[in-house]
Amino acid sequence: MSLVSINGLHKRFGTHHVLKGIDLRVKEGQVTAVIGRSGSGKSTLLRSINGLESFDEGSLDVDGVRVAVGQTDLRQLRLKVGMVFQQFNLYPHLTAGQNVMLAPTVVKKIGKQQAEALARDALAKVGLADRFQSFPDQLSGGQQQRVAIARALAMQPKILLCDEITSALDPELVNEVLAVVRKLAEDGMTLIMVTHEMRFAREVGDQLVFMHQGKIHEQGDPKTLFAAPSTPELASFISSVS
Ligand code: ADP
Ligand code: MG
Repeated sequence: MSLVSINGLHKRFGTHHVLKGIDLRVKEGQVTAVIGRSGSGKSTLLRSINGLESFDEGSLDVDGVRVAVGQTDLRQLRLKVGMVFQQFNLYPHLTAGQNVMLAPTVVKKIGKQQAEALARDALAKVGLADRFQSFPDQLSGGQQQRVAIARALAMQPKILLCDEITSALDPELVNEVLAVVRKLAEDGMTLIMVTHEMRFAREVGDQLVFMHQGKIHEQGDPKTLFAAPSTPELASFISSVS
């Protein structure tokens, strides 16, 4: 049984055909690492999965919520899907805890006490139990990104999408964020992660997806593909980033 099932997905921006028939299954608890050159359609694919982007052909199922062209229950979809971006976008005037409590309170209409409990639990999961009262500018970039992860977790999503979440960080802060994601994966979270961290993709990924010119060009076991890419495109991509 797949938690996410994507069938024949096409997306165009005007005449620019950006996703050219994507088929992808993600099982519960599986970590899918998505790699590929800039412009290959990785972000558009992720954004389609939580309804930030509409698509032109195909369908998408996330835990029983079906998204087809022209008929979308975005609210139901977004309750299933959490997303973390390269930019953390925390509200600077709210504490870490308040940032994390916001969506459960506003979107799910959960009471303040329960939302606070969710927020404390989520902050603990990212190793920031003691920073509930800190404002974003009192936190490092790595800590801010961990708050952004906690903010997504507090909505108790079925799946978490991560789009290059370490790309805006200073190199010495990358590992603390990757360690949090690795722990989430070990605890059984279903993840789709667009990343430039090839070692992470190889070690933590259950499946690797290589996007090239709007298509899934290669897909399979990360260790196998990194050791022996089947196509010259993946081979050249791997050598360009390592
Ligand atoms: P990646 O994340 O792999 O770098 P994207 O999914 O961001 O790739 O982009 C794929 C292609 O779609 C790029 O050529 C990009 O310029 C184009 N694109 C992305 N978003 C838009 C948009 N909102 N309007 C027009 N073109 C877009
Ligand atoms: Mg991108």
